[in-house]
Amino acid sequence: MLDYIVVGLGLSGIAISRKLEERNKQFMVFEDNSQKSSLVAGGLFNPVILKRFTLAWNANKQMKIAIPFYKKMEEKLQAKIVHPIEIYRKFFSAEEQNNWFEAADKPLLSEYLDTNLVKDINPNIPSEFSFGRVRKTGVINTDVLIKEYRNYLENESIIHFERFEYDALQINEDSVSYNGVSAKQIIFCEGFGMQHNPFFNYLPLRGNKGEYITIYSEELQLEEAVKSSVFIIPLGNNLYKVGATYNNQDKDPQPGKEAREELEKKIEKLISCKFEVVDQSAGIRPASKDRKPILGRHPKYKNLYCCNGFGSRGVLISPMVSEQLIAFVEDDLQLPPEIDLQRFNRKHYQA
Ligand SMILES: Cc1cc2nc3c(=O)[nH]c(=O)nc-3n(C[C@H](O)[C@H](O)[C@H](O)COP(=O)(O)OP(=O)(O)OC[C@H]3O[C@@H](n4cnc5c(N)ncnc54)[C@H](O)[C@@H]3O)c2cc1C
Repeated sequence: MLDYIVVGLGLSGIAISRKLEERNKQFMVFEDNSQKSSLVAGGLFNPVILKRFTLAWNANKQMKIAIPFYKKMEEKLQAKIVHPIEIYRKFFSAEEQNNWFEAADKPLLSEYLDTNLVKDINPNIPSEFSFGRVRKTGVINTDVLIKEYRNYLENESIIHFERFEYDALQINEDSVSYNGVSAKQIIFCEGFGMQHNPFFNYLPLRGNKGEYITIYSEELQLEEAVKSSVFIIPLGNNLYKVGATYNNQDKDPQPGKEAREELEKKIEKLISCKFEVVDQSAGIRPASKDRKPILGRHPKYKNLYCCNGFGSRGVLISPMVSEQLIAFVEDDLQLPPEIDLQRFNRKHYQA
């Protein structure tokens, strides 16, 4: 019998699977390519919320766990995954500059916010009120990470590329079985796909559609990421990701015309040189009601777990909370109540 079945191999399933490997656990993954959030993500790791200049939830702690996690993945998979890149926040007023200085005085933010404002970063991106530089940021190439880790699991014969059909799951006292595969427990990491999971879809997971366009511009010659009303993230070869949009009404997984027009308008305002839109991608972020991850044990079936709700910050959150979930299952360590799915149970299940 296996130790675990893992359903879904986005950022959540990858972090969970790695933790299982580190503990020499036997597991099998099911992945059906139905959700694209991790694949299309900008991949930015940035501990600062650039709207208000505050630290994202637990971001300091997450940075310390996430960056070594991805560096180890680089070594294991022999692929370039971590790309340090600075982010320049364009200011729109003197008041924003002041807010930046105030934030930079705070102990947890001072290591990230540079107080030497930069007047010009690129001739094609003018800014009347200069730019603020965020340090220690970068991009995780999620596309490479996912493809390489999937290949690795395929070579080890521990992944099935097929849809996990929930009604075929048999739940026993101390194990689960699914189409001939038996395991002590199962962890669901389906992102927004959790809406189809009859065991966990009572949890308040709200999809938030995000879209990027990719532009080509020979003139731009930008090496840093820039945050204005949108992000511009350099991809190399004169290509740049521009986005992302946030839409909590539209659940259509396909890229849409409206988002493309919105992003085109914003980039036209931000850069003064010519560009061409060459691609567009979309994914549904698995966002929770209270903006915290949702993980833990099913209230009724003790062998069923989920690891979800990373919203727009899966890159930094997933390595930390996957460790907490596996320590909860294996070592009986308590989950922090703010991420434990139990916070939503009272309404649906008697304790
Ligand atoms: C446009 C966009 C930009 C983003 N940019 C960033 C960013 O810059 N930085 C950042 O930190 N985060 C970013 N995010 C958010 C980030 O992508 C998410 O937080 C993260 O990817 C969620 O990972 P996940 O594994 O929980 O879900 P998903 O990525 O949705 O993965 C779930 C996996 O489960 C599989 N699955 C689902 N159901 C089944 C089933 N029944 N059987 C088998 N397999 C199944 C799916 O195919 C999928 O591979 C962005 C998101 C979007 C959409």
